Amino acid sequence: MKFSCTEYEFAMEMDAKDELSSFRELFVINDPGLIYLDGNSLGRLPVKTAGLIKETVENEWGNRLIRGWNEGWIDLSKRTGAKIARLVGAREDEILVTDTTSVNLFKLAAAALSAQSGRDKIVSDVFNFPSDLYVLQGLKDLFGRNYNVKRIPTKDNTTIAKKDVNRIIDEETAIVCLSHVAFKSAFMYDMAGITETAHSEGALMLWDLCHSAGAVHVDLNGCNVDLAVGCTYKYLNSGPGAPAFLYVRRDLQEKLIQPIWGWFASRDPFEFNSDFNPAEGISRFGTGTPPVISMKAVEPAVDMILEAGINRIRKKSVKQTEYLIYLTEQKLSQYGFRLGSPRKAELRGSHISLQHEKSYSICRALIESPSPAVKVIPDFRTPDNIRLAAAPLYTTYAEIHRAVQRIQAVVEGKIYEKYSCGKLPVT
Ligand SMILES: *Cc1c(COP(=O)(O)O)cnc(C)c1O
Repeated sequence: MKFSCTEYEFAMEMDAKDELSSFRELFVINDPGLIYLDGNSLGRLPVKTAGLIKETVENEWGNRLIRGWNEGWIDLSKRTGAKIARLVGAREDEILVTDTTSVNLFKLAAAALSAQSGRDKIVSDVFNFPSDLYVLQGLKDLFGRNYNVKRIPTKDNTTIAKKDVNRIIDEETAIVCLSHVAFKSAFMYDMAGITETAHSEGALMLWDLCHSAGAVHVDLNGCNVDLAVGCTYKYLNSGPGAPAFLYVRRDLQEKLIQPIWGWFASRDPFEFNSDFNPAEGISRFGTGTPPVISMKAVEPAVDMILEAGINRIRKKSVKQTEYLIYLTEQKLSQYGFRLGSPRKAELRGSHISLQHEKSYSICRALIESPSPAVKVIPDFRTPDNIRLAAAPLYTTYAEIHRAVQRIQAVVEGKIYEKYSCGKLPVT
């Protein structure tokens, strides 16, 4: 995609022609002086969700009390999973909404390792989210099986070469566990190709979809993926700490057993048996009582994405990240910014990373800009990345333009120098 105009009017024209523009009104957006480019970390609040949570608390909990379990709560994990399944190319009984991504990763990775006895290699990469790497490292000590966690290296800090993947996956490999879209650089793997490589060596493939679900095409069945996990609070807009999801391909469900034998993984929790008997199907990957209130937020948010359609979402996301790259090249490269994401759209998720030696202070200056200057919320990822995300349901081209203008003003006027000390606990 080629752009040749840096004028604000051009951004406005693209918004006027944008066929997804009407979705923005479906979100709570109260501050016109705030540009939110952090939808890959915490998505915005849909208007419908605010009403639904109020109704859940006041009516379902307040009035229906324990009866709520038989009036829809008990099936919520599976019902919500079936919705997400449509978004990621899975069958409706292959996804369960439960726990956090980290816990789900633990459950599925441990289940897969037990099924792969005799193989002691776990393959991940240097881009993977730390929590994923920690969970994999923790498995090694927990089961005392001397698993070896190998990380595929990067040559350019931005992408991972297919031949490095091929070199590391071998007949010793039990599982391959990768993030489909890398949280820092936004590098996106070829899911079909890597899954096939893993299978050709007899390994099971576990994808983390945290930065993909709701933003890029995912076809779990089409790629014959074994296992997957993902969160719902990023591009799925389901709110802070909303429960995560897990996917287990249908034919594997009866073959795997996960290590947390909670009552919601058992065949009939309300029989209160003293001995564990795993549930059939996807339910056996559950744990304990589901977080009903926060899970309620998932369905309306996923409905919006299904309505917009992932094709249109991805098309706009590509155009918006291309536009961001174009504007940063035109307006920011002269101030020492470098692109820390793949230049090719097909290798990139829905955000870009800009690198600069003063990235942390620049981020703070953007977030804390005093009015009338516009406030911009990106996020900072160590050591020097400013992440800027396009969330196509609510991000506008005009916002992207104004954000780049503001970044330029912050570096040109050295406004960031005021913010050069001490980091906040959450970046
Ligand atoms: C956000 C994210 C997580 C978060 O895990 P939680 O356990 O839900 O906090 C895990 N993996 C990746 C790749 C992420 O981007």
